[in-house]
Parts: sequence; structure tokens; C-alpha cells
Amino acid sequence: MTIMTENNNLFNYLKERVQILSVIGEHVLLKKAGFYWKGRCPFHDEKTGSFTVSPHREIFYCFGCHAGGDVITFISKIENCTPLEAAKSLADRFNISLPQELSLMVSTESADEKKRYFNICQVIAEILHKNLLSYKPATDYLKNRMVTNQSINEFSLGYLPSGQQNIKSFLQELRTHNILAKDLLDIHFLEESKGFFHSSFEKRIVFPIKDHLGRFCGFGGRVFEQGDDRSKYYNSRENSFFQKGSLLFGLDKAKKDIHKLKYAFLVEGYTDVIAMHQYGYTNTIATLGTACTLEHLKQLSYHAEKLYILYDGDSAGHSAMLRLAELCWQTNIDLYTLFLPPKQDPADFLHQGGDLQLLINQAQDIISFFFKEAGTNFGQQSLQQKLERMRKCLSIIKNVQDPFKQEILLQQASSIFNFPTHTLKQELNRLKHKTASLNTLNIKTEMPLESEIITCLLEKNFIYAILSNLELLNRKEVANLINYMPSFIKNIINKLQSIPACDEKTRFMLFFDTLNESEKKSVQQFLVREEEQEAQEFEIVLTQLEKKYWKMITQKTKLLLEEAQKTGDASSINDLVSTFLELKKKLLSRGLI
Ligand SMILES: [Zn+2]
Repeated sequence: MTIMTENNNLFNYLKERVQILSVIGEHVLLKKAGFYWKGRCPFHDEKTGSFTVSPHREIFYCFGCHAGGDVITFISKIENCTPLEAAKSLADRFNISLPQELSLMVSTESADEKKRYFNICQVIAEILHKNLLSYKPATDYLKNRMVTNQSINEFSLGYLPSGQQNIKSFLQELRTHNILAKDLLDIHFLEESKGFFHSSFEKRIVFPIKDHLGRFCGFGGRVFEQGDDRSKYYNSRENSFFQKGSLLFGLDKAKKDIHKLKYAFLVEGYTDVIAMHQYGYTNTIATLGTACTLEHLKQLSYHAEKLYILYDGDSAGHSAMLRLAELCWQTNIDLYTLFLPPKQDPADFLHQGGDLQLLINQAQDIISFFFKEAGTNFGQQSLQQKLERMRKCLSIIKNVQDPFKQEILLQQASSIFNFPTHTLKQELNRLKHKTASLNTLNIKTEMPLESEIITCLLEKNFIYAILSNLELLNRKEVANLINYMPSFIKNIINKLQSIPACDEKTRFMLFFDTLNESEKKSVQQFLVREEEQEAQEFEIVLTQLEKKYWKMITQKTKLLLEEAQKTGDASSINDLVSTFLELKKKLLSRGLI
């Protein structure tokens, strides 16, 4: 057996056991649209959802960037790994035990390394959690900060006692899980100097950090004891599995509710996330003590449509929000700012009985917030500063897609800066023109596929029906009609016909494996549609196609008849004539010829 088919066995084994919707649903907010589901593509930037998933055929396709494939392709694209690693990741994620011959295939080195890393982090988290529960000063501190026992458990909060003796017993316990001091040195959880081990997490409350799939991947530690004047927070060092610029604390827990509510709260600290969850705002996440990056926003835009930012009312929180305003146009998530009373963080606010709903009602979209800020003390600025502020605002307006929103923002800017709207508009058009001429230089045009050029709606409907119901191929008139279709369709259907009859799902999977890349793309396009289309009744489509190909059918039948007469093949002649006459009768009766 070749490697290719062995891999396919493994992939098919997995595909039979996971549903593409639940896999992709962990990464992208999907909405049902007819027979398929749509969302914003995680592989390219877009305003509208061109990303389509067909649960019926277990494939996805993006009409924007043409990314497409099955569940294995999806995971290898999103996790940036090989198909084999993707298979392994899927099996791990969905607890699928593989038959021995298949499980041998997936034990690739890098996938193992990844799994081992997550496992080490998990064991550390478990040990530290146990430590915390038995260390009263830590639990007292958390109790004072109104962190409930339930939260301590749900967020697996931990504690690492200091001193050589304690580190020694920590290492001993790790060893029972086959984890060595070297492993902890490798991931920089421990440092070694002069033969002694120590850790920056000692004497800190530890917040284990999980990725959006719930795998432990790093730690944040906070000082809590009187007189501890080290920096307040310490986070794990970055590595390829722990990237602060894209991880969000709490996303694994919040994801489900974010999908349901379609919005999320972004707060600054781990304890804010915990407080928000305690008060029922379970759709809350935080960055890892770092600024919210474009990457974070992009990640969130796959899950939410709206993001409420709940930053501290201090000046740092303020400037963080202004930075977000300049980033937000590059993503597809609408940002709103919520204003906390001065000197309060979300945890204080909630513990003191603050009404978050009231803040939400008064939320301001981040661009208006930015404008207001730009307008503060505008009169007292120098001419240069004034121009700079206005240009900054206009450059934000320029990037707003919705023309109505643009108009509203222009009017806002006009009243804030006390400047006539039409002058601002002129300047805006000048800016737009400038970028437009720059853009034309590096526009990348995707060549349309052959299938897009020559296939009309009728053929698409026809093939869609066949791929959705393979039984249709058994009908003689369907098989006949395919002979007249463009050659790439004929090739695809031939491949489908060559797959031995078995249950529909398996048959489709086997068929899909036989396709080349461009055929796969065509099939994905046939199966998912960009626009909602009335699925016409198959009989109507069939008849219309017969009408469309009628001339070709007549000519070809004539040729075949001549040939059959030469060889004297009477049964062929009979067949040809009766099929032809039947079709002619049908089309005549409908007034189509
Ligand atoms: Zn795309």
C-alpha cells in the first residue's frame, strides 16, 4: 500500500468520527444559511462572510481566497501544520482512539513535542493548584479579593511555594509524571544557578493560561504578599506554543457564550476576567498583560461581531483604547468602549454593586470616542497640532466601509473641529484618491477558475443535486446528459462513477480523495454557494439542460446511429432511437423545441 492511501485511510477514519461543523465551529462563528453554514474566513481579511461549510459533504470553501478542503485541510491550515499533524491534533482533541496501525502513523516528532509541552504545562498547573488549596495565606488573599472557590477551581489557580525544599518536592512530584527538571528548564519555568533551582513564579498566585482549545500553554503569576516588591506580574516566556500577541485569557471558557451572544467583553487583567465570569458575564476575555494587538482583534473577529472594551479609567487605559481605534478598521469586529468610574477596574466595579448593563447602554463606538478625544482642548492647540489631529481622524474615516457611517462621522468631525463638512469631505476624497492610486499598483488578481468561466447556474444546480444525492447517477438520462457537459465536469463525474457502491458518506470521501487540486476546488464550489439560491427541483434542471444541449444531442445521436448501422448492431440502434424519441417527446410536450 502506498503512503498516500495509508494517509487517506487515517484521514477517512477521522473524518467518519468528527463533524466538520463542530471542528470549524471552534475557530469561526458560523451561521446557518440554507443547507450550509457561513462565517468570516479565518484565512483572509474580509468584511462579509465568504467562508462556507457544507456539513452534508464535510467540506469548507472560501469564495474570497479560494481556500477549501476537508476537516484535515482546515486544521493543517489553521494550525499551520502537516496533514498528519492535523490528524493527530484532531484525534487528541476529540478523544478518538486510533487502531494501532493508524496510531503509529501520527506519532510524528513535532506533534509529539507539542503534545508533550501541553502535558507538562497541565501537570504543573495541577500541582500548583493543589499547593494553593493547602496554603491559607493564598486562599485568604483570593477570598479578600472576592474570588470564589468555584472560580479558584474553574480557573485552576495555583501557588508555587519558595525555598529549595519546596522546589525539591515540586520536582519529585513532577517526576512521578515523567517530567524532569530539564523539561522545566527548557520551557523556562525554572532557572538554575550554582546548582540550585528557582523560579520567577515562586510566592506568586499563578493563573494558568490555556489556548482557545483549552490546552494549558503558559502561566501568569501575581505577587500578593505584603512587602513583595517584585514586579506585580510575571508571565511565562514566549515560545512557539505560547504567543502573547495572539493568546487571550479565558477564551476557551468564553468561546461558547461569545458564539451565542455574538459579542465579547475585553478586560485588562486575569482577576477582571474571573470577576466578570463570577457575575455571569462569561463572554469575557483579557490579553496577557500586553496591549491588544491586531492579531488579537482578528482572532476575536472569528468568534464575535462586537467587542466591548472595559479598560481601567486611568490614562493608560485611555491611550490603549485610542490605539485600538486606529487598529479597528483593519478587522471586522465593531469596537465599543465602556466607561468605568475613575480609579475602578471591572472587578472593583462589580464587587461594589455597579450596574454593567447601564454602562453597556451608554457604550460609545470607538471611532466616536477617538473623535471626541481628538476634539478635547482643540481650540488651544497650535495650527500644526490641529492639522495633525484632523488628518488622523480623516484617515480613520477613510477606512470605514459603510458610506452612511462615513457621512455621520464626517458630520461629527465637522462639529467637533468646528470645520465645514464639505471642506473635510474634499480632504477625505484627496486622501482616498491618494491611496487608491497606490493600491492599483499592488492589487493581486486571482484568476477565475475554468469552472467559474464556463459553468452556468444550470450545470451547477445539476452537479449540486448529483453530489448531494449520488443515487441520481443511476438514472439513464442523467448519465446520458453528462456526456455533453464540459470535460472537467465529465472527468469529475467519471471519477465518482468509478467508486464502488457503498454508503454515501464513505463513497463521497473516497471520491474526494481521487480528485486533483483543481477538481477539488470545483467540487467545493458546486457544493457550497456564495449566494442563497433557490435549489430548483431536479427534474426542471434536468429538462432545461436537455433543452440546452438538444442540438448537440441530435447531432451526436445521428453520428452514433450511422456507426451502429455500419456495424449492424441492432440493439444499439434500438436503444439510441428509443432514447432519442423519448427525449424528443418530452421536450415537445413542454413546448421546449
Ligand atoms: Zn478566505
